[in-house]
Amino acid sequence: MMSSSEQLHEAVASIPAPLFVGHTLGELGFVSSVEKTMTGKARVGLLLPAPHLPGLDERLQEVLGPMVRGADVDIEVMEEGIADEWMTRLDQASGPGIGEPGSATRVLAISSGKGGVGKSTVSSNLAVALARAGEKVGIVDGDIWGFSIPAMLGIDHPPLMVGGKIVPPVAHGVKVMSMDYFVGEDKAVIWRGPMLHKALTQFLEDVDWGALDFLLIDLPPGTGDVSMTLAQLLPQAQFLLVTTPQPTAQKVARRAAEMAYKVSLEIAGVVENMSGFTTPDGERYPIFGEGGGRALADELDVPLLSRVPLTMPLRAQSDAGTPLV
Ligand code: ADP
Repeated sequence: MMSSSEQLHEAVASIPAPLFVGHTLGELGFVSSVEKTMTGKARVGLLLPAPHLPGLDERLQEVLGPMVRGADVDIEVMEEGIADEWMTRLDQASGPGIGEPGSATRVLAISSGKGGVGKSTVSSNLAVALARAGEKVGIVDGDIWGFSIPAMLGIDHPPLMVGGKIVPPVAHGVKVMSMDYFVGEDKAVIWRGPMLHKALTQFLEDVDWGALDFLLIDLPPGTGDVSMTLAQLLPQAQFLLVTTPQPTAQKVARRAAEMAYKVSLEIAGVVENMSGFTTPDGERYPIFGEGGGRALADELDVPLLSRVPLTMPLRAQSDAGTPLV
């Protein structure tokens, strides 16, 4: 209860800014004033690019709760022109964009020959694992046949529009964009080659990704248009192939690999998913067969990066929006 106005100001300024991963409220210029009132409360003035930043109110109360008898927060929203300038400055400060020369972002396109092999499960868990290891991570749900990434990551708020840019929602430290946000009805009609190209271009140009270490793209199963577009827009992208141990799945995944080679994109490696099930007594059942991941990796001369067993928690945690990792 002894905190001074300066201490309160410092505490508020060092709160991580929601949505703008890697920045504090202070760094972004969001804190206009913090004062301690005669009655021992905190009066906080914020200047924000939007009327509401998800989770900010709770975080303020959490930080100030132990320091004062209560906090009143006044939020002023930046005028449009100011928000535009602010966004442009932030964008420029984060260096070259993902598709631009000099970009240090590693792009991984996660691909599989067919649906249901766990491509989105691998993508979302990998994204969270990288974020937990301290990397700045973004993920694009590009699986136009079944958007599942936002749900697997427990996203509960839409993207924010600030100064002509789209600020992606964040969950578990990962910035998440889904092509689903861009389309309404008529998805099947809309997703022809040129539309897909346009949507991907927009993803890269109009989304405020900030300075990312990794951008993961969950591709639709199969190949074709998306690989071509990726190769054009992101020549540094690498493929990560997900397959099950079944020889048939491996054959289909190889087709995805062939497409990657056709457009000169590198393949980083293979992840074998649904690699057997082990009972609590330690008995192992190769439910989907054995060896498909190894065979595919050897055939393509790339590493087999991981073999992920079938487990109920992996499925249940994805359903609950909290990836197992
Ligand atoms: P895809 O993106 O390839 O279509 P998903 O990642 O959506 O596949 O996975 C399909 C279903 O299988 C989901 O319900 C997911 O939770 C489940 N699943 C994926 N991998 C595993 C695993 N190793 N163990 C248990 N369930 C899994």
